[in-house]
Amino acid sequence: MAREAFTIAGAQIEPGTRRQINVPVAKLYTHTPLHIPVEIVHGRQAGPTLLVCGAIHGDELNGVEIVRRLLRSRGIARLRGTLIAVPVVNIFGFLQQSRYLPDRRDLNRSFPGSANGSLGSRIAALLREEMVDRATHIIDLHTGAIHRTNLPQIRAQLQENDETRAMAEAFGAPVILNAELREGSLRAYAQSRGAPVLTYEAGEALRFDEWAIAPGVRGIRRVMRLIGMLPSDGRRRAPPAAEIANGSSWARAPIDGILRPRVALGARVAAGEVLGVVADPFGDDEAELLANADGIVIGMSNLPLANEGEALFHVARFDEIDDIESAVEDFQSRYDTPSA
Ligand SMILES: [Zn+2]
Repeated sequence: MAREAFTIAGAQIEPGTRRQINVPVAKLYTHTPLHIPVEIVHGRQAGPTLLVCGAIHGDELNGVEIVRRLLRSRGIARLRGTLIAVPVVNIFGFLQQSRYLPDRRDLNRSFPGSANGSLGSRIAALLREEMVDRATHIIDLHTGAIHRTNLPQIRAQLQENDETRAMAEAFGAPVILNAELREGSLRAYAQSRGAPVLTYEAGEALRFDEWAIAPGVRGIRRVMRLIGMLPSDGRRRAPPAAEIANGSSWARAPIDGILRPRVALGARVAAGEVLGVVADPFGDDEAELLANADGIVIGMSNLPLANEGEALFHVARFDEIDDIESAVEDFQSRYDTPSA
């Protein structure tokens, strides 16, 4: 039996074809219409429907480039099932180089949304109806916030769903965080529907970090092979074993001042080790920032200015610290990651 066309925003995409669609979303104050650009790759053969989306936080750009490269990567035109690829979800924030919507709301706290609600609520409702509810699998692409960078990591609720765990492991990021759901997030909403969903967090807002982009494209393609959208390639080496963190915490600035980091992203640290020093401009009054557990630095501030209490180093804890250290070293040897 022939496969049906995929319909979105009134457009029909026939099996075996791909098409870019502008989904109308809202208007600017000037009444200039805004669209969310979406590319649908609708395979000739039936299979999963994978939604891959970037920049739901409008200043998180690595995912935009990941989606562009994914769409140009080998074999995508002949995939099984359907790929819904959305490089820029939060068009308003993207135009303003901002995480948020014009009313300062967070689109990733607006799900499931409502067609009669505020701007964020309406956009969430549109995304839900046109894309999220139709996806069988979802990968949501993020970076650290402004002036903060993340070691590539998958966040997912692993205990919820065996397929989620298999996807998280197949992705091949060095670190997996078994992360709590945030109310109103795309991940929380999608998971309430039973769709396995991964969040990929890598690099820094407002930048292109090649060491976050290249493994992101590879990771999505590995997941697509796992779920049968792309043919498995026996010659390819298995993804490096990812390590699952059993918790994480932020080390915070002990005083107001100027930060001199002593460790780099990906560093293995021991409880009590000095992560950085915060001082006044002359360095007379200074205080050390200590690791509160053995672990790996999976996120850190890139801005050397801090107020007391500000979260500066994100340290994840692991049962097998030697294994994660070698997984991170393996990752860093394959991608050119920043060093101290
Ligand atoms: Zn984000």
